[in-house]
Amino acid sequence: MVVWATALLESSGVESPRLDAECLLASLLGRDRLHLYAAAEERMPSPVFEVYQALLGRRQAREPLAYLTRTKEFWSLSFAVTPAVLIPRPETETLVETALARLNELQAPVIADIGTGSGAIAVAVAKALPHSRLYATEISSRALDVARENAARHGVLERITFLHGDLVAPLLCLGLAHHCDLLVSNPPYVATRELAGLPAEVRYEPLEALDGGSDGLDVHRRLISEASTLLRPGGWLALEMAPGQGPSLSRLLREQGVFGDIEVTPDLSGRERVIVARCTGPGSARSGVGVGLRERAGRTHGG
Ligand code: GLN
Repeated sequence: MVVWATALLESSGVESPRLDAECLLASLLGRDRLHLYAAAEERMPSPVFEVYQALLGRRQAREPLAYLTRTKEFWSLSFAVTPAVLIPRPETETLVETALARLNELQAPVIADIGTGSGAIAVAVAKALPHSRLYATEISSRALDVARENAARHGVLERITFLHGDLVAPLLCLGLAHHCDLLVSNPPYVATRELAGLPAEVRYEPLEALDGGSDGLDVHRRLISEASTLLRPGGWLALEMAPGQGPSLSRLLREQGVFGDIEVTPDLSGRERVIVARCTGPGSARSGVGVGLRERAGRTHGG
């Protein structure tokens, strides 16, 4: 069965056909992939076979495996995912690690995750820091439902306040100005003209979580200009980015005049992926940031 399914997926150009054929079957049978072999030898009842065939067909059309199994592992935790959220990527674990490393001397840090998507970053941070308090914003209410489900699944719902709204605006409404020790975000950062060149699977993911405008930095620009209204002096800003965006982002940060200790960190494949900066002084609440922004049309920022 798995051999046949593997050949089917391979013929459609799926990158890891064997693994995907096994994962789909395991998820269908509610078993561990490693305990599949007994099941794979058994005759499959035809209703089950029909569902398996349908799943394989969707995978042949390059629907991401994670949307078919409705789950993705991140930070060694299993996350619920739906097409309303960006599928958590391994490189985002580098963002979590880098951010956590800046907080290790703080007992009970206050953390904001902007554009939380599936909630993967907020949940991973909450699990790593049992005394932390988190606030996670998201413009897509469908994504926010997934994030809440994930926080509940991992027992951290009472320490994460999920807020519907645009970037930092909902947090300023809550009175968190200059209260945060860390602002972390994985904003959309793919340049619009590069979207078409991404793997076919990415077309199933929310565009609002990927499309960062002409240079990929539209949302970073807004975040960098708004971040210091939320951070306490000495607090950290940690953003995921595409390799090559470091110099532009460093310049944007320096232009604000309130960020120092700027550092770019590579992910596990050695590509620059995260930029971190320390807020050196109080930022002023700029015009446009605040209550009025709450209603402003914006983007979804997937995790
Ligand atoms: N890492 C994703 C990709 O390359 C992009 C995620 C994002 O834009 N935040 O597909």
